[in-house]
Amino acid sequence: MKSTTRSVPTTRGIKRIDLAYVQLATSESARDINRDVVLEIIRSQQPVSRADLARASGLQPSTISSIVDQLIAEKWVKEGAIERRPRGRHPTLLALNDELVILAADVRPKQAIVALLDLNGRFLAREVVPLVSDPESAIGKIVQRMESMRDNHPNHSFEGIGISMPGRIDPESRLLILAPNLKWGSYDIKHAIEDRMQLQVELTNAANACLLAELWSGRLDGIRNAVLVTVVEGVGVAILANGQIITGMYGLAGEFGHSPIDPLGPLCGCGQRGCWEVFASSNAALRYYAEIRPNDAPLSIHELLHMTEEDDPAAIAAVSRQATCLGRGLRLVTAALSPEVILIAGDITTSWARFGPMIQAELEATMLAGRTPQLGITNDSELARLRGAAAVVLQRHSGYQRSTHKAARTKTSL
Ligand SMILES: [Zn+2]
Repeated sequence: MKSTTRSVPTTRGIKRIDLAYVQLATSESARDINRDVVLEIIRSQQPVSRADLARASGLQPSTISSIVDQLIAEKWVKEGAIERRPRGRHPTLLALNDELVILAADVRPKQAIVALLDLNGRFLAREVVPLVSDPESAIGKIVQRMESMRDNHPNHSFEGIGISMPGRIDPESRLLILAPNLKWGSYDIKHAIEDRMQLQVELTNAANACLLAELWSGRLDGIRNAVLVTVVEGVGVAILANGQIITGMYGLAGEFGHSPIDPLGPLCGCGQRGCWEVFASSNAALRYYAEIRPNDAPLSIHELLHMTEEDDPAAIAAVSRQATCLGRGLRLVTAALSPEVILIAGDITTSWARFGPMIQAELEATMLAGRTPQLGITNDSELARLRGAAAVVLQRHSGYQRSTHKAARTKTSL
């Protein structure tokens, strides 16, 4: 049972509202912020009573009451269990409405994982879809799976679709503007799926999706400066700076993976030579292995990592070289952002006991000053992208950060 003596404002929702923007808030946007705060407290502390919400948020009981009525009417929240107390009233507890569900897809160059999640991040269905390189037929296959998941859950309300992409999405046009490993050109993924599914689609970068999933899990509570690095076919970076996820003007913030390290290095998918990702990605490890054993049949990264577990010297040499390059490149990241925490997501994390210390050693060797950032791995990078993609839908549709976006635009037009 939830404590009724909870101390005041240490909730995740309050922390995420940036005071720099709150100062600019109009009375209308202040109401939006209060609504976001209340929804976040319900999400992170459910089941909660209205009295608990008032205590945790510092808002008046009458304000809580009207916000909760609105959230119930919009189906974000439902009333459930009755709290049993020894004396006095037995308040009805509030929780997120788990009948409201979100479709999510984690798109990668050769496959997509399509899933159905409820508002609590629980998976109701999950399927792998092999993809061809033509974007129209790839999206057709993803939509087919989504349609069958919707048909199989007739009693749920579908709120929207979140897609994690191995690339960058322009926050204004919502178009994919950089995806060197996918090569889908300027195909309008968002509208292609919306036309078929009649649900709103939100696209997000895979690294940002993983970072958002970590934030929502509460693992980064108290951390305001963190970096998450996805190490798969390419290398992607997501940035939490001063408590905010940074996207930049065109959604391109964090493209350290395409920083040129060696102008004479191998050609990268982005068209340049010697980017960090051609030395530090999973594809780089496979290339290093092929250099040592040129006559072997091509491997998958999972096979290569499995060989390191079996102490194969060539496999260990290849992934060690990748780990060293990954650690060296983190110098750019720490110099630019000075994070407290660096989280690695992706293939190499499955053999972290062997290769994590190599990355750590390089990171320590290149520190300019101060304490070395804490290096760790994400909980479940396979599922994190799906959870993060779903969280983007929840965030946009429920109104999370709506007020900060409004305020940010006001700020730029001054
Ligand atoms: Zn590049």
